[in-house]
Amino acid sequence: MLRAFLVHLVRNISRSGRGKMSNSPKVYLCNDENGEGSQPASFEQCCLTHLRCKGNRMDVGYKYQNGKLEVYPSAQGVRLEHPTGCPCRFLTATDIASLSSARTQGVGVGVSVILQSSDNRVLLTRRAKHMRTFPSVWVPPGGHIEQGETLLKGCLRELKEETGLNFTEDDINFTTLGLWESVYPPLISMGLPKRHHIVVYLLALANEDSRTLQQRLKFHPDEVDAITWLDEYMATDVASSDDYGQSRKVPQRYFEAQVQRDNGLEIVKLPLSILMAVLPPAPGVDCERLSSGTKFALRQWLKALYTPPEGGMERGDSLETVFLTITKKGHQPEKSPFWSE
Ligand SMILES: [Zn+2]
Repeated sequence: MLRAFLVHLVRNISRSGRGKMSNSPKVYLCNDENGEGSQPASFEQCCLTHLRCKGNRMDVGYKYQNGKLEVYPSAQGVRLEHPTGCPCRFLTATDIASLSSARTQGVGVGVSVILQSSDNRVLLTRRAKHMRTFPSVWVPPGGHIEQGETLLKGCLRELKEETGLNFTEDDINFTTLGLWESVYPPLISMGLPKRHHIVVYLLALANEDSRTLQQRLKFHPDEVDAITWLDEYMATDVASSDDYGQSRKVPQRYFEAQVQRDNGLEIVKLPLSILMAVLPPAPGVDCERLSSGTKFALRQWLKALYTPPEGGMERGDSLETVFLTITKKGHQPEKSPFWSE
């Protein structure tokens, strides 16, 4: 029934994506769905600030076509969030003057997919150690959209490249979970921004269970060095942990991961605290953790998974329903400030 409800939520995701621009797809910010006041998002400005949001979350609509992701305020839309420490809100004129050539690139478009198996688990991958951005960080499969690609095609291509899982648009159901403004490094204390993206998080419902999918999985060692299937209980724990260490209650639990070793793949148990690690304060260093955008996507996923259809899925609903449902199953997640959004 939950799956039927999620399928019902499937929104129209643009399937027309033949691009004409020569460079990579870019974010444009506008006042409304007709593209009124459309402007390319600037690298050094926070997208939420540009859209006149003073807080850290707002509801937006979006359209993707011809290499342009147009984002506009819309009460009927999906959630757009950024981290409370969004680096682009803290740049001084001196910082902006010393930004690298990345500054001229505007804001890029990314796509990430929360792949949900039929037994309600989601696939997470650990980025290889040598990656330039987010090394050793746990994220769902995803990446850049190439010119001329639709969001769905980009999503399926990344899924195949990183995990070997090959789906067509016909054998998987997609819905939008939300949009996340991602800046790297994620803290200004780690250095000035080098990358700035809006990531569209899609939920993909697979018809097979995690064990079956696992057997088909063949991850690309240059990009991914470990994978795991997270259930809703662990997802609740990690999605409610904060990035700044202000509410640290880390359960003594373990998750099972398949890790790439020199002599092949190995199944290991890793402490859940890894996925609840805070952002590193030092410049030039990242650490193994779950990305803030992934926590955001998991929160949206849990909302969709646990809001009963008869109650409707109200925007901005508190997540009491989520807790009630999970508590009924005998699990008592800690309440966190993130859940009262
Ligand atoms: Zn921002």
